[in-house]
Amino acid sequence: MRPPELFYGIDLGGTKIELVACDAALQVVYRRRIATPHQDFDTLLAALAGLVLAADAELGTCAPLGLGIPGIIDAASGAHLSTNVPALCGRQLLPALRAQLRRGVVMGNDCQCFALSEAHGGAAAGQPSMLGLILGTGAGAGYCADGLLLAGRQGVLGEWGHWPLAPALLARHGLPPWPCGCGASACLERYLSGRGVSALHQHLSGQAGASAAQLAERRAAGDAAAQAVYALHLELLGAAIATLVLAYDPHVIVLGGGLSRLPHLYRELPAAIAPHLLSGLRPPPILPPMFGDAGGARGAALLARQAGTHLVTEHA
Ligand SMILES: [Zn+2]
Repeated sequence: MRPPELFYGIDLGGTKIELVACDAALQVVYRRRIATPHQDFDTLLAALAGLVLAADAELGTCAPLGLGIPGIIDAASGAHLSTNVPALCGRQLLPALRAQLRRGVVMGNDCQCFALSEAHGGAAAGQPSMLGLILGTGAGAGYCADGLLLAGRQGVLGEWGHWPLAPALLARHGLPPWPCGCGASACLERYLSGRGVSALHQHLSGQAGASAAQLAERRAAGDAAAQAVYALHLELLGAAIATLVLAYDPHVIVLGGGLSRLPHLYRELPAAIAPHLLSGLRPPPILPPMFGDAGGARGAALLARQAGTHLVTEHA
C-alpha cells in the first residue's frame, strides 16, 4: 500500500533548522530540529540533505520539500544576497538541493511561509484574503488569497519593509533617512521592526542598547520615554499599514515576529491606521498569530503542497 501523502517543510534560521512532515490534513506528523551549521555551504547542504533523507527513511516516503529562508534572493542569478545564514551568501541553494534530493523542492521567504501557515488552520483560516505581517528583526509580509500564496513574478510581493517612510513623516519627527542593508535609505523596516524600535529610542533619548522587549516592559510600567518611543512607532506603523490596506485590501492582517507579542498593537493599531485611509474605508481586523514563529516549517510544507511538486515526483 502507498504511504499517506506527505509534504516536508524546512525552516532554515540563523540558529536552528527545523524539518516537519505534514499529512494531507495539514497535521504535523514528524518534527526534527538541528543547530544550523555555520562552517561553509557544503556543510550546510549536507546537513539539510541529511535531515530530509532521515525523514524519508523513518516515514517510508520521498516527499516533496518546501524551504523557508530569510533574506533576499537575486532574481536573475538565484543567489542569496542578504541572510542571517552567512554560508548561503552568493550561493544557490535550490538547484544544489534538487540535485541531491531528486524530488520537487521549492523555496520561499520566511514571511511567505508564516502567511501560508496562518491562512491554513491559523488565525486567518477561512478568510478570502489575508496579509501576514512580520515585525521582527526586519519587516516583511506574505499575501494569501483563497488560501494561495501570491508571490509575484520575482517572488518579492509583500516586501513592504523596503518601501520608503513617507518624507512628510520623516520631516514631522525630525527623523534622518537611515540607510538600509538593501542599499536604499529610509526603508520602513529601519523604523518599524524590533531593531527600529531600538533605533527610535536612541533617536529620541540619545541612549543606545535598549531592546524592543525591554522598552515594552518600561512602557507598561509607565516609563515616559518608552511611552514616547511606542507612540511614535504606532503612528509610523499606522501610516505604513494604511498604504498596505490601499495596496492589498486584505480581509484580515495577522501579525508575526517578536513585536506580535505586544498587546497594545491589537488595541491601538486600528485607530492609528484609520486617519491615513480614504474616507469611508475601515482598517481590517488586526489579529495575533496562532502558530507564530513555530509555523515557519509548516508554512514551508504548505508551499510544497501549493507548488504541486508531488505531481512532478509521482510522474518522474
Ligand atoms: Zn531597505
